Amino acid sequence: MPNNSKTSSSKIIIIGGGIGGLATALSLLQRGFDVEVYEQSTALKEVGAGIQLGSNGTRVLFALGLQDALSKVQVVPTAREIRHWRTGETWNWFDLGAVSVKRYGTPHIMLHRGDLLNVLADAVQRLKPDAVSLGRKCVEVSQTDDRAEVHFADGHVAAGAFVIGADGIHSRVRACLFGAGRPEFTGCVAWRGLAPMDRLPLHLARMVGTNWLGPRGHVLHYPVRRGEIMNFIAIVERDDWQVESWTLEGSKGELANDFGGWHQDVHTLIDNLDTPYKWALMVRGPMPRWSKGRITLMGDACHPTLPFLGQGAVMAIEDAYVVAACVARHAGEPQSALARYEDIRRDRTATVVRKAHENRRQAFSPALADDNAVAIEVARAWQQVRLRERMEWLYAYDATTIAI
Ligand SMILES: Cc1cc2nc3c(=O)[nH]c(=O)nc-3n(C[C@H](O)[C@H](O)[C@H](O)COP(=O)(O)OP(=O)(O)OC[C@H]3O[C@@H](n4cnc5c(N)ncnc54)[C@H](O)[C@@H]3O)c2cc1C
Repeated sequence: MPNNSKTSSSKIIIIGGGIGGLATALSLLQRGFDVEVYEQSTALKEVGAGIQLGSNGTRVLFALGLQDALSKVQVVPTAREIRHWRTGETWNWFDLGAVSVKRYGTPHIMLHRGDLLNVLADAVQRLKPDAVSLGRKCVEVSQTDDRAEVHFADGHVAAGAFVIGADGIHSRVRACLFGAGRPEFTGCVAWRGLAPMDRLPLHLARMVGTNWLGPRGHVLHYPVRRGEIMNFIAIVERDDWQVESWTLEGSKGELANDFGGWHQDVHTLIDNLDTPYKWALMVRGPMPRWSKGRITLMGDACHPTLPFLGQGAVMAIEDAYVVAACVARHAGEPQSALARYEDIRRDRTATVVRKAHENRRQAFSPALADDNAVAIEVARAWQQVRLRERMEWLYAYDATTIAI
């Protein structure tokens, strides 16, 4: 082994300092484990975009002691509305705020992704100031009977009792363990961007989440960062763009063109975005296994999820809590710890991935091309009782009390 290696029989190595990797680091540090996080970027940063966390996600973050820190940056929206793509007609969809807390115990919140990452990073660094190493890109993982190793592009080697690949949708750890996957394009492109709230007219600058329903597109916007910014996501059926990346810029003209004929409010939002980015939505089949020996995967590395349920990062947060609990319960037995983690998480995450994929169909309402079908369509697909039935299993789940 090269001289620049680090080794420890009890240390846990995490590849990726995104939401999943840092939540895992925090969960493990709180249980007394030594953790090293390796992130390829030279700074801990998230894309400029929003994220919603349902009650099942905030339940875990509150259990990790982050309630106060989140309250300084979050928005707790009062409600979700739906609007008609062309006429702008508005329906109350469901109540959030106190209603969510009453029903599920913890709120549904909306955040700037960078704010969530900072909250997690601060909590990690309070417990271990040098936990995160930046500018380290994992290129290979390997293992022996008594330890796992990670090799980085710069020649550094790290070793520990476990390696957890939290390295996202293009996971190198997954490729090393199971080979490169073959994603399938969904035929949808997601646009996203941020608009400063003070640039928006008052009727749009409200603390509610809004879903615009259209025949072949869907627009969602909600406030983040204490209500100072409006997050904008727009999904459209398009087959000419197949790059899956958070950082590829598009133009406002192209985005406006994708939503030609939509209500003026949608175009006001587009006009006021800082920079619009576009991401081709891909799906991958569920993986039968996530672990080999002492090495496992979590978050998007093993169950990337389409955004139609707003649950990909929440699943990573649930994984983080459960993998730490399993490692603590079976500390000296890596294979048992990781097998239990997979057993607990496989079906739930597969269901979320499947339902998010099914919701893709629901996100578009071809019937809305016909003005006479509006009321029927809204009642059919979006009425409150159906929604509550659809969501109960998701938001009521408690990763913090699951039997390990
Ligand atoms: C348009 C859109 C909207 C979404 N909205 C929501 C939402 O509202 N709510 C929700 O819960 N989810 C949402 N998601 C899903 C969510 O973004 C992801 O599920 C979540 O970011 C996954 O977190 P992660 O930590 O597993 O991976 P990532 O966030 O991708 O983090 C992976 C980290 O690993 C690093 N890395 C990668 N490769 C290496 C390497 N070789 N070596 C070292 N480091 C490496 C990366 O730089 C990155 O920092 C949305 C997704 C999309 C596309």
